[in-house]
Amino acid sequence: MAYAGARLSVACFKSVGIDAEVTPASDARTLELGGLHTSGEECFPHKVTVGDFLKICQTPGFKPERTAFLMPTAHGPCRFGQYSPYLRRLMESLGYGDVLVLSPTSEDGYSGFGDAARELVPSMWLAVVGGDILQRLLLKTRPYETRAGDADAVFEEGIEAFSRVLSKPGLKRGQRVLALVEEVRKVRDRFRSVPARYEKGRPLIGLVGEIFCRLHTFSNEDTARQIERLGGECWLSDISEWIWYTNWYSDKYMARTRGRLNTRYLSMKLKVAFQRRYEQMLLAPLAEDLRGYEEPHDIREVLEAAKPYLPAEGCIGEMVLSCGKTIYLHKKGADGILDISPFTCMNGIICEAVYPALSAAHDDIPIRVCYFDGVNTNIDRDLEIFLDLARAYQKRKRYPRVYPAYFR
Ligand code: SF4
Repeated sequence: MAYAGARLSVACFKSVGIDAEVTPASDARTLELGGLHTSGEECFPHKVTVGDFLKICQTPGFKPERTAFLMPTAHGPCRFGQYSPYLRRLMESLGYGDVLVLSPTSEDGYSGFGDAARELVPSMWLAVVGGDILQRLLLKTRPYETRAGDADAVFEEGIEAFSRVLSKPGLKRGQRVLALVEEVRKVRDRFRSVPARYEKGRPLIGLVGEIFCRLHTFSNEDTARQIERLGGECWLSDISEWIWYTNWYSDKYMARTRGRLNTRYLSMKLKVAFQRRYEQMLLAPLAEDLRGYEEPHDIREVLEAAKPYLPAEGCIGEMVLSCGKTIYLHKKGADGILDISPFTCMNGIICEAVYPALSAAHDDIPIRVCYFDGVNTNIDRDLEIFLDLARAYQKRKRYPRVYPAYFR
C-alpha cells in the first residue's frame, strides 16, 4: 500500500531466496477488473487489490502454480478480515485455484512464511521503518524544492539504496541494521542537498485515516501532492504507528488471556524490544532533520489522547489512532487535519461522528473527512477551501510549529 514500504518488503523476500515483485501500479484497468469481480458493497481497498492481482493473472505467460499473492489479514469486526478468503474464492472461481494466497499472521508466529520467517520478520520491520523514513524525508523536502522532481528523485535513490541492503542474502541481522543506518545517513545528506527554499509559514496538514487509502497514492488521488501544490505541507501517519498499535494490543490481549509467564508472551516482549532498538538506531542520524516532526515516543501517548472520545480498551481499530493522532498533531502546531478514508469505511464514519466535538475542544482546528471510492471527485476545489480554513486557523493557533534549524 505504501510505495516505499512495498518495494523494501520485496527486497526482504529476495534476501531469503523468494522471488518477489510489487504488484504493478494501480490504474484505470485496476478499477475496471476490481469492479467486475466485486459486488460494490466491499471496501474500496478490496476492489483495488483484487483489480491489481487480476492484472497479474492476465499477464501473458502467467503461471498460477508458480505464484503466491500476499494478502495480510486480521481478526475483528472490520471487513479487512474478509479480503483474503474472498480472494482465495475468487481465484478458484476464475480457474486460478493453484495460486497460493498467503496471509501470514502473528497469531501463528507467521508460520505462513515457513522456514524463512525467522529472518524475514525482523527484516520486514526494517523495511517498514526504512520506508517510513524515506516518506517522511520526502514530505518535508518536496514542498520546498526549487526544481520540481528533485525530492522525488532522491526518494527513489533512497529506495534503491535501502533495497540493496535489505536484499543481500546471508547478512547477519546486526550487520544489516548497521548497513542500513549508514544508508540512512547518506540519503539524509542527499535530501539535504536538494536545492530548496525553506521558508516558514506553509500550512501543515496532518493526514490520518484508514491505512490503505491514506498511504496508497492512487486510491487517494495523491492528496499529499495536491496539498503541496496548493501551498501546504503534509504530515502523513505512517505504517510503524499501526505496528506499534498492534503490539500494544497483542500485549494486552495475551497478558489477559494467557498470563505474562509463558514463552509466547516473553518472546513477543523481546521482539518489541528489538523493534524499538532498531527503530532508534535508524532514526538517530535524523534527529536534527526531523526536529519538529517527531512521532510520539510511545503509542500510548496517542491512545491516551483519544481516550475521552474513543477509549482504546473498548474501541479497536484505526479510528482510535486517527483521533489520538489528531490531538497529538494539534499540539505539534498542525494547521488542519484531513482524514483520508474509503467510502463507507467504518473507521472513517465513526471518526466523522467524533471530530466535531474533538475539534471544538481543540481550538476549533479544521478537520475534514475525505472519502474516496475511485470515482473522480473534484477534490481540488475541496482542498482549496480546506487550505483557506487552515490558513485562517494558523493565524490564531495556540501551539506554534517547531522548525528544523535551516528554516528562515
Ligand atoms: S478499515 Fe475501513 S476500508 Fe479498511 S477494511 Fe475496514 S471498513 Fe474496510
